[in-house]
Amino acid sequence: MGAGAQSERMLIDTHCHLTYAGLLEDQPAVVHRAVQAGVARMITVGTHPADHPLALRTAETFPEVFAALGIHPHHAAEVAADYRTPLRAALTAQRRVVAIGECGLDYHGHSAAAEVQKEVWLAQLQLAETLGKPVILHVREAHADALAMWRDFPHLRGVVHCFSGTPQEASRWIECGAYLGFTGIITYKNAPEVRAACRLTPENRLLLETDAPYLSPQPVRKIKINEPAFVTHVANQVALERGITPERLGEITTRNAAELFGI
Ligand SMILES: [Zn+2]
Ligand SMILES: [Zn+2]
Repeated sequence: MGAGAQSERMLIDTHCHLTYAGLLEDQPAVVHRAVQAGVARMITVGTHPADHPLALRTAETFPEVFAALGIHPHHAAEVAADYRTPLRAALTAQRRVVAIGECGLDYHGHSAAAEVQKEVWLAQLQLAETLGKPVILHVREAHADALAMWRDFPHLRGVVHCFSGTPQEASRWIECGAYLGFTGIITYKNAPEVRAACRLTPENRLLLETDAPYLSPQPVRKIKINEPAFVTHVANQVALERGITPERLGEITTRNAAELFGI
């Protein structure tokens, strides 16, 4: 716990986008409010090649911020043919890059074709194995295909971020050793399955995140743009689901984030 922290807790926001509009313009204040709320560290996630230099610069600027870099499935069809070389260079550019991602499969809405998504994700899984980095997985409406690919890499470690699947899908990922990251969705009335998934997640596989600027949790939903300070609301709900104190949950999830990402 940092000296003078206002909160009894220490939390880590393992997934946010400080380089996205709404947060980028205001980074120093956003990071300051997070620290004041007890969010001592955060991982800003770069999702496409043009975003990576910004994410790297953000991690260099703020001692509380680390970076993850990857090609989001939404951008799988946009990357240049030789994206692997600059991605690898960015991932090894500095020690504050703690993961590859977010990457994965997203069959919801207007993403790239499934075959293109699979090809780009496979390349990133291979890169993660080569570099020995953990993976931040984005999986939406694609759990069966994503699990099939993930099982081909039994030595990789990673988190299914913004877990929004069923309890059964959660169990499959846990069997594969994956961590599950919970966002503000867990505070939404219409997400009983996500709460059920959270309750069955083993203590040592649980992570917290905001996915800011998206998915503002209750009670700031539709009132404020999301930011890392609001991971406190996610933590409160997760603690409630699991019947433990928010302080204990903070200890558990901070230790898990430290183990997975080395931060
Ligand atoms: Zn995502
Ligand atoms: Zn994200």
